[in-house]
Amino acid sequence: MKFVDRVKWGARPPAHSFRPLVSKRVQGVVVHHSGVRNGPSGADAVRSFERYHMDTRGWDGIAYNWLVDASGNIYEGRGGGVSAAATKGWNAKSESVCFIGWGFEPVSDAAVAAIKSVIDDVQGRYGGKLWVKGHRDLAATTCPGDWLYDWLTSGAEVPVGDSSKIDYESIVAYLRALEDEVRGKPLSRWRRSRGEAVRVAQRHLSARGYAPGVADGIYGKRTAAAVSKFQTDQGWLKANGVIDWQTWSALFGA
Ligand SMILES: [Zn+2]
Repeated sequence: MKFVDRVKWGARPPAHSFRPLVSKRVQGVVVHHSGVRNGPSGADAVRSFERYHMDTRGWDGIAYNWLVDASGNIYEGRGGGVSAAATKGWNAKSESVCFIGWGFEPVSDAAVAAIKSVIDDVQGRYGGKLWVKGHRDLAATTCPGDWLYDWLTSGAEVPVGDSSKIDYESIVAYLRALEDEVRGKPLSRWRRSRGEAVRVAQRHLSARGYAPGVADGIYGKRTAAAVSKFQTDQGWLKANGVIDWQTWSALFGA
């Protein structure tokens, strides 16, 4: 089980930048299934959905915010804090997670544990107040399949074992590694910082209602301004627009 970010699965750049969600408008988490039986798995499946969603449907990127495969791997789709193209009428008000597979039949323990940990992570970013629904609650569709829907509506319990803990640990380890990077070298506009840590920080700023611009991993003027505003709002951080480790911790720890 691992966390696979957009860089690792080889996501294409969005056709148009993903629209940031406005935190206070976000109401829920929507669970989907791909509805494909015996289809491709893992990163191949994720890339093929992206191809279909972008090239055939003409969307800006893969439809979902998050995807989970049968082995319990979590894939960053559009990622957190941006509008998806998964649930008509609700994309600006929810984040979506898609199980890669067929939700009409029992889904593996590893996959339900991973779906639950994505739901918990999304909840954590919006203060734990979101509803969790299946796609069928919001549209005329059988998605996410009877089995997965029943699991969801009967409490979304994770089988005994520490599979969900493993998922969390990999996400935490991933953020920890980025934090170490920031600790060694703060992110800033004047330093022309680029890369994954910048992108993740931009996403979190968006998710928390700031406006750092497109999460493109480039530390520009809007990102610096959003960081300053965030620092000012915290009250105890120097509002210098630089992400040092204290700012990083405030951004990810709260
Ligand atoms: Zn769906």
